[in-house]
Order: sequence, then structure tokens, then C-alpha cells
Amino acid sequence: MNNPPLDQAPAGARLTIDLGAIADNWRQLDAMAGAAECAAVVKADAYGLGIEQVVPTLWKAGCRTFFVALPGEGIRVRKAAPEAIIYILAGYFADALDIYRHYALRPVINMEFDAWVKAGRNDRLAYAVQLETGMNRLGMPISDYDKLQASGLLDDYQPSLLISHLACADTPGHALNALQQQRFSSAVENHPCNCTSLANSAGIFLGSDYHYDLVRPGIALYGGACTSALGADNPMRPVISLAARILQLKAVAPGETIGYGGAETVRPSPHSGSNERFVATIAAGYADGYLRSAGSSDQRRGGCAAWRGTRIPIIGRVSMDLISVDLTDHPDVAQLQDGRWYDEWIELIGPAVPLDDVAGAAGTISYELLTGLGNRYQRTYINGL
Ligand SMILES: *Cc1c(COP(=O)(O)O)cnc(C)c1O
Repeated sequence: MNNPPLDQAPAGARLTIDLGAIADNWRQLDAMAGAAECAAVVKADAYGLGIEQVVPTLWKAGCRTFFVALPGEGIRVRKAAPEAIIYILAGYFADALDIYRHYALRPVINMEFDAWVKAGRNDRLAYAVQLETGMNRLGMPISDYDKLQASGLLDDYQPSLLISHLACADTPGHALNALQQQRFSSAVENHPCNCTSLANSAGIFLGSDYHYDLVRPGIALYGGACTSALGADNPMRPVISLAARILQLKAVAPGETIGYGGAETVRPSPHSGSNERFVATIAAGYADGYLRSAGSSDQRRGGCAAWRGTRIPIIGRVSMDLISVDLTDHPDVAQLQDGRWYDEWIELIGPAVPLDDVAGAAGTISYELLTGLGNRYQRTYINGL
């Protein structure tokens, strides 16, 4: 008998990634950006969803320019999209020069400009410059860039792209948006460049003054709500769904506690006739990136899951491999009793429990939830182009 292969060992939870929705989201942002080119930010393994699957999908949808954080991510994008333009946001690492040259990766230069010019100039390696306009994270002060241009050093070695990054784009009324936009506009007026870029996902929603020549969406491609301007109405298509199998369902008497720390006490249900609660234990946990902070206790309500489209609360702490959910008030709970829960699955992220709700219940943002998704899931990609 052949050995059953490891990669076919059944998982406790299934993560489904809708590549068609990512392509649609890119097309929608591309349309919003008008004449500006719509690039894609695929750092951190395309926000946890897989560079090897996401990049070819975006390429086929029409995307030609990609941003990643690190050189190794750039190599993976190069292999997935051989003709793409690829920028490395972390900038220039001296020990990565051969990689930049060989894979035609373009560093986004911040304050390490002197080192880069010595290394890249002879071969005319392409690069971008990021200007500091108010984020105070990475970026060259505009006064430094003025001096560089005045020195003549750049006369025959101009960057292919000038960018800056918005600190508060998800809050449209924030004064820093307009200030950064003004600073960036005056810098690119003084130093014209073939391609200029300011907007991340949320920046696209701030309007055409923020679009310049190229926009750089990340989270909106992956279905995350990127701006508080829209309230609960996220116009992007959801991309991921996550479901975990029920390992057991049992009746728990009032007064008992659930899980580690005895953190949540079972109380009689005001809705169902019985005093017991029906608690299902499902096969996912914080080792899968389902955040422990979404757990529930007597002091604080936790997050929600869903079964057959109806929400059910998490009960007790989230443990490494397991989560307990309370099905007592679910209208169909009787259909799960007497062992019929076997081979049933609970939705952790999906139509009834959107990504941003799960992130919110865990006290974080969709970015952190996505990039933390574990590698134990059975991953299925659907609707690829
Ligand atoms: C991550 C990042 C983006 C994408 O931001 P989103 O909010 O995910 O759209 C764009 N530009 C830079 C410089 C980034 O670091």
C-alpha cells in the first residue's frame, strides 16, 4: 500500500480564497483610479493569501506593477509574473544588490540614497524614491531630495517613480491627508518625474487629487474595508472564507465553565426551553491565526461564528487548536443533536461573519488577521482566471 501523502492529510479547517473576487476588486479600483495606473501591493505573501496564486491572477486582470516589502518576496513575484515591474518598499540592502540586478527588482530608496547611487548608478539600475511628507516612517526628507537634485547627481540617473505614503487615509476628514497631498504636489512640481504615486487603498477613495499617475492598493484587493468613510458598506467583494469542523457537540449544565481558566460560566438560555447549553468544539485556534483576543469571558463578550448563515457566539477562551461556540439559540440546533454534528462545519469568516467583524471582535484590523492566517488550513483557490 502506498503511504498516504502528507499534503492530503485532512485539516481541521478550510480556507477558501476567491481569486476571481481579487481580480474584480482590482478592476473596480482600476476604474476608480481613472487615468492613473492601478498597481497592486502583494507584500507579506499577498497579505497572507499566496503570492504564487494572487500575482498571476492580477497579471491576467491587467495589473503590471507590483510592490512588495522585501527582496525575497520580489523574487517570488518575478517568478510568478516574469514581465512585471516590481518595487521593493524596504529599499536598498547592500547584501541584495545581485538580487536586484538579476531579478530586475527596483528598490524604493528612502534615506540610504548614497549607498544606492554608488551601487546602482553604473548599471543604471532602476529605482524609486519615497519622499517624507508626514508619515515619519520611511522616506527621504523633501529638503534632502531638493539638494540631491540641485547637486546634479541625478541629472542622468533619475528615479522611475516618486512616491509618498498617507498616514491617515482611512480617516477622510483628517487634516494630515490634505497636508501630505500639498507637500507631495509641490515636491513633484519642483522635480517632475514620469510616474508619481501617493494613494494606498484608502487613498483611492479620497478622490482624484490623490491619484497622481499610479495608485497602490493592498487591503482593498483582499476584501478588507479600507476607509471609515463608508461605514459598514464595504464596496469590495469578500475574498476569503474560513470554516472549521465540529469535533464534538455536548450539552453543558448551568454553572459549569468552558475552557481554560474557567473564563466563561454557562448560564441558562432565556430563549430555549432547556437550561443546558449546546456547546460545539471546533478545530481551529490561535495557532491558525484565529486571534485569542476574540475569545469570550464572563467579563467580556467575544467574537461570533456562524452555522447555516445564523450567527452563534464564541464561548470561553480561544485555545491553540480549538474554539468553543454556543449553538443553543440557533434555530436548527435540534438537527445537530444525537451525534448528527459529525462532519458538520462552522463558519469562522464568511458571508455571515465578515472579515472586518472578526478583526474588530479581536481588537485588531483585517490586515493583521489576514497576514496571520496559519498554514494548517486546507487552502482552496477558486475562480482563478
Ligand atoms: C502596505 C502599503 C501600501 C498598501 O496599503 P493598503 O492600506 O493595504 O492599501 C501602499 N503603499 C505602501 C508604501 C505600503 O507600505
